[in-house]
Amino acid sequence: MTPRLPVSIDPYPDESIASMLRRLSTTTGIPVHSLYPSGVSGRLTDRQATVLGRTLGLSTRRLRTHTLRHRLPGRHGRKPASIELRRTDRTICSACGIGSLWSGLVWVSHCPSCHSLLNDGVTVDRAVHALEMQDAFLRSMRAPAIGFADRRLRLLRLLRLHVHLATGHVTTGARPAGSWQAPASIAGFAEHAWPASRTVQATRDLIGERTLTHLGETPAPEDDCPAARQALHDQLRGSRITEAAIPDYLHPRHRALDVDAAGEDLGHGIARALRREAIHASTGARPTLAQLDERYGDLRKRPMTATYVHHLGNTTAGLRILAREADRLAHAGIRDYRYRRAVLTTLHSAPTSTLAHTAVPRTPRNQRLAAAWIWLELTQGTLSLSPHHAGMRRDLRSFDQTLRGEDRLILIEYGHQHLGAVAADVARDAQQTLTRAARHADAG
Ligand SMILES: [Zn+2]
Repeated sequence: MTPRLPVSIDPYPDESIASMLRRLSTTTGIPVHSLYPSGVSGRLTDRQATVLGRTLGLSTRRLRTHTLRHRLPGRHGRKPASIELRRTDRTICSACGIGSLWSGLVWVSHCPSCHSLLNDGVTVDRAVHALEMQDAFLRSMRAPAIGFADRRLRLLRLLRLHVHLATGHVTTGARPAGSWQAPASIAGFAEHAWPASRTVQATRDLIGERTLTHLGETPAPEDDCPAARQALHDQLRGSRITEAAIPDYLHPRHRALDVDAAGEDLGHGIARALRREAIHASTGARPTLAQLDERYGDLRKRPMTATYVHHLGNTTAGLRILAREADRLAHAGIRDYRYRRAVLTTLHSAPTSTLAHTAVPRTPRNQRLAAAWIWLELTQGTLSLSPHHAGMRRDLRSFDQTLRGEDRLILIEYGHQHLGAVAADVARDAQQTLTRAARHADAG
């Protein structure tokens, strides 16, 4: 039986429903699940809000104003990106006991009521920037601030990079929310990101510094960039790495198929920066950014990739990272990726006769997935720069996971037949595909 309370209970301003129920439950001794049988995990549906309102003697409309969904900018504002939303808004401040509905936003690391760091119940001395960032976001939720939209986009870029550097791999739905979402982690992020997000230049500088450091090089104040570039050019000529031998994607840590969107941008940036040096080394003329855009696609809509290209090609640390990637390419064996892309661009589906030799069921869908898989393996490229549909990424990941070693070899061999490749190349690619798959299986 649902207990009827004698009085209606007022939630605090901006208090989450979960927090309100917990307070009620503590005061009355009635377990939360009696007040609200379906529990408060996840989103409160309209029907649930109606039932809960009836139980508590509160209007449904009033209750709904205590959900994040109701407060976020709707039709007239900018919808939040999925990365801005936490999985749960149940965080209750252990210092004052109030859970804010705003803690459902990733930008909120501190209790909006008492300013304690959420989860810890302590006030952090060096959280000035985290509090400023949070206040700016909360203000912009209440009334869209002029000029904040651009800064928010810069912060989003920095956040995506932060997440990539912290995790790198795509987080699947099955895994719990990554630790990067933890209030302390967001507060730490804000200390650098909030001041940097003030200007375009400072944002780019922070992106560069973070990325170069992540890739194992320390950006030095005194830069002898021309010497490092000369050394790289000598290396490229010596190992016969031309523009055509550089694939669309180069990332020292992640396969293109497993990486998150920020990592894909980085992989594209490393590849483009190295191609620029390869053209410069072979022709003696340094391509301009506009010439690169014309050749490989416009980066105006990909500001992160543009930033990587800038930092990798114009600092000693960046050029050293490129030298390491060139070394990796030389060791793997020189391939003409440009030729491979040109030929494989017309392969939209693998024949059923090829799938017949594998454990993969012969369906039109699998024929298309097989063609996309061959593209990724033989061009060392990414789905987003392929002739295949970027929306098949998730399907392609599970397709890849079901492939046995011998299936991989059959697909690689078919791709090579298509290319008219020589036996030595086939053997080398097959070996490297199996090694990568094995390493991937170990990591996963
Ligand atoms: Zn508090």
